[in-house]
Amino acid sequence: MKLEKGVRLSRFTTIGTGGPAAAFARPETVDELQEVLAYARDHELPVAVVGLGSNLLVADEGFDGLVLKLAGELARAEVDGERLVAGGGAPNAVALHRARAAGLGGFEFACAIPGTIGGGVRMNAGAYDGDWAGILERALVVDAEEASWRTPEQLGLRYRRSDLKPGEIVAEVEFRLAARPPVEIKSLIADLQARRKAAQPTNKRTYGSVFKNPDHELTAGRMLEACGLKGYRIGGAQISPRHANFIENADEARSEDAIALMGEARRRAYEQHGVELEHEVVFLGELELPPLSK
Ligand SMILES: Cc1cc2nc3c(=O)[nH]c(=O)nc-3n(C[C@H](O)[C@H](O)[C@H](O)COP(=O)(O)OP(=O)(O)OC[C@H]3O[C@@H](n4cnc5c(N)ncnc54)[C@H](O)[C@@H]3O)c2cc1C
Repeated sequence: MKLEKGVRLSRFTTIGTGGPAAAFARPETVDELQEVLAYARDHELPVAVVGLGSNLLVADEGFDGLVLKLAGELARAEVDGERLVAGGGAPNAVALHRARAAGLGGFEFACAIPGTIGGGVRMNAGAYDGDWAGILERALVVDAEEASWRTPEQLGLRYRRSDLKPGEIVAEVEFRLAARPPVEIKSLIADLQARRKAAQPTNKRTYGSVFKNPDHELTAGRMLEACGLKGYRIGGAQISPRHANFIENADEARSEDAIALMGEARRRAYEQHGVELEHEVVFLGELELPPLSK
C-alpha cells in the first residue's frame, strides 16, 4: 500500500493547525489496514488515525510516525434493517443522512458533532442526552495482530473516553436504531442545530470542547467565562467570544498558541475555582500543557 511522506496534518484538523506526518496512508479495506499496521509494527513506527480531526490538536512539528485516514469501504455507511452499519472513517453527517433516508431514528443527537463514526467511538462522542454508548451494538477493532468485535462494555465507553489504545483502530461499527418517520427526524435535527447555533461558534475553525466538564456546579465554559477569558487571545488563537470552552483559529494560529491559551485557562480555573481542568481535545505529537503551580 502506498505511503505518502510529509503530508501536512493541518489539512486534516478542523482548527487548521499541525505539522507533517512522517508517513501517511489511506487504507480502504480491513486487509489493507492490517497490512499497513503490520508494516508500522515491523518498522517500530508509532501509529495514529485521524477522523475529521475535529477533536485533535497536532504539534506544529508534526508527528514522527504513521498517520492513517480511513477511506473506501472503511468510510462507507449503509442501513441493514434497523441497524446502521458504518466504516470507522464514515463522516457522522453521511451516516445520519443514510439513517434519516431509511426512516431510522436515534442518531439525531450527532447532527452537531462534526466527526467520524470511529472518532465517535474513541471519544464516546455525545450531545443532547445521547452518546455513542447508547446506540452502539458492537465495533470491529483492528490492530497489527488481530481484528475483533467489541461491545460498548469491552470498549470501556464513558464520558468522552474509551479504553481504546493507540494503534487500535475502529474499522467498522454497528448501531441499533429504531423506526421513526423521516419528517420527525428532520424536524428534530433542525431543532438541535438551531440550539447549537444559538450557543456555540458554528462558523469558526475550532476543535470543539477544549476541556471536559469538571465535577463542579459550573461547566468548563461557564467557569472560563467567569475567569474573564472570552475573547482572550494569544498569537493567532483566541478563546471564543461566544463560548469560553472553544478556541478559535482567528488568524493563522499555530498549535503552540492554542497550548498557551489552554495553559492560561487552566491556571485561572485553578487559582479562581480550585479546579484542575482536564483537556478533552486529543494531542498528537510532542505537545504538553504547562504544569499548574500549586
Ligand atoms: C464545532 C464542533 C462541535 C463539536 N461538538 C461536539 C459535541 O457536541 N459532542 C462531542 O462529543 N464532541 C463534539 N466535538 C468534538 C468532535 O467532533 C468529537 O470528539 C468527534 O467524535 C471526533 O471525531 P473525529 O472523527 O473528528 O476524531 P479526530 O478528532 O480525528 O480524532 C479524535 C481521537 O479519535 C481517534 N480516532 C479517530 N478515528 C478513529 C478510529 N477510526 N479508530 C480509533 N480511533 C480513532 C484519533 O486517533 C484521536 O485520538 C465538536 C467539535 C467541533 C469542531
